[in-house]
Amino acid sequence: MLESLSNLYQLMDDAWSRIAALYQFQCNGCQDNCCKSLFFHHTHIEKVYLRHGFDQLESDRKNDILNKAEDYCRKTFLADGEIKNLKIMCPLNEKSRCILYPYRPMICRLHGLPHELRKPGSNPVIETGCRAGRFDSQSYFKFDRTLFYQKMAHLEIYYRQTSKKKGKINETIAQMLISQ
Ligand code: SF4
Repeated sequence: MLESLSNLYQLMDDAWSRIAALYQFQCNGCQDNCCKSLFFHHTHIEKVYLRHGFDQLESDRKNDILNKAEDYCRKTFLADGEIKNLKIMCPLNEKSRCILYPYRPMICRLHGLPHELRKPGSNPVIETGCRAGRFDSQSYFKFDRTLFYQKMAHLEIYYRQTSKKKGKINETIAQMLISQ
């Protein structure tokens, strides 16, 4: 199942690179750094894959990352239930690079480019890309995420059935690293 997820990730990466090339866009890091965004991830299978990558790191490095993840959660999720978006760097980002790049979740892979999503019975919803790309001044190149979301949903359903997991998760990378 993880191999199927890896293949799906490859399709996403290929599509992203193809569309980015049409815009002549290269992500070289920016002030808005998307690794500081408060992204929530929703699939157990992606969490398993991320943690599979994490488990391959040396223990000192893992401890360091876990400390950062705990700090991230302490500052972001307050005891009274409030969630603070403080733009804290993801604990997996080191020197502007993702330590677990091959294992990063779908949203990390698809972020940045203008894209669309099609829901049955509705017109496609088109979202703007990140500010760094200055996409507003360019024509839109079709980047449809729908099929990726559908394939991910199928994989997740199958994973939940075989692993007896129930319900979706709603976790940041930091939470995925420190929770089971
Ligand atoms: S997992 Fe990697 S790509 Fe995703 S936010 Fe963290 S550092 Fe950035």
